[in-house]
Amino acid sequence: MNYYQLYDQIKIEDLKIFAYHGVFEQENRNGQNFYINAVLYLDMELANDSLECSVDYGAVCELIRKTMTEHVYQLIETVAQKIAEAILLQYPLVDSVEIEVRKPDAPVAMDFRSISVRIQRSWHKAVIAMGSNLGDSRAYLQDAVQKLQNHSHIRNLKQSGWILTKPYGYTQQPDFLNGAVILETLYSPFQLLKFIQEIENQAGRTREIHWGARTLDLDLIFYDDRILNQSELIVPHPDLQNRDFVLKPVAEIAPYYFHPVLRKTICQLLEDLETRKNHKS
Ligand code: ADP
Ligand code: MG
Repeated sequence: MNYYQLYDQIKIEDLKIFAYHGVFEQENRNGQNFYINAVLYLDMELANDSLECSVDYGAVCELIRKTMTEHVYQLIETVAQKIAEAILLQYPLVDSVEIEVRKPDAPVAMDFRSISVRIQRSWHKAVIAMGSNLGDSRAYLQDAVQKLQNHSHIRNLKQSGWILTKPYGYTQQPDFLNGAVILETLYSPFQLLKFIQEIENQAGRTREIHWGARTLDLDLIFYDDRILNQSELIVPHPDLQNRDFVLKPVAEIAPYYFHPVLRKTICQLLEDLETRKNHKS
């Protein structure tokens, strides 16, 4: 269960908005009525009977109207996503939203009551490990932190200090500067991976030797408590428990982050690794 499901809700039901979305030209020309259902999850204990500490639902309705009338989209899927994004960006107290866009007059030549899409979007926690051992490492790392921090879909970034470490795997290369960040993001795991790879590429990252020298390496360590096992993305990062250059910086910013596969906190994993190392030496 996600933590936001425990939260209180603000519910907007069947907000009627006339707009021009659709794949067919006649829909874009004539327009039709859309009905929006929105559920906003937030902690209302914070509201304290003051609107500044809660969410003005009148203003949310207006934001939905604006989002639906400023642009014309082909798909109600896109409309739902734009509404979800607008609400999450405008109202930081809202952790999660469910949006349903209903189109009772959709151009389908059969008898039906309504056609709709329903999506759920939220802020997610992510941990990213960072490393560099080519060029001006500190500048590459700082620049990457800035790019993450400045992105509209990322907030509340917390950064560890930088540590100098011996290379891992392929040892004939310069020492590394390592660190980590924890942040909240609206991106999906794959969107976040794509974004960190863009930042790596902008730092002139080339991939010649696996585990070889690099200007910038950004690895996705955790994404909420999600477990993903796909060829291009494995989360939690499969080798994090063996890397003190990952565990040490993460322990600084998120010591109690819980590894959903190994079922241990970062602190415990770091202790385990140190015990294993002491046994070896
Ligand atoms: P490494 O970090 O192990 O030295 P690279 O940075 O060159 O290797 O990444 C190689 C590939 O690893 C990427 O193309 C990416 O698709 C894949 N990958 C799988 N899981 C992750 C993850 N959690 N974070 C970053 N990349 C990952
Ligand atoms: Mg990597």
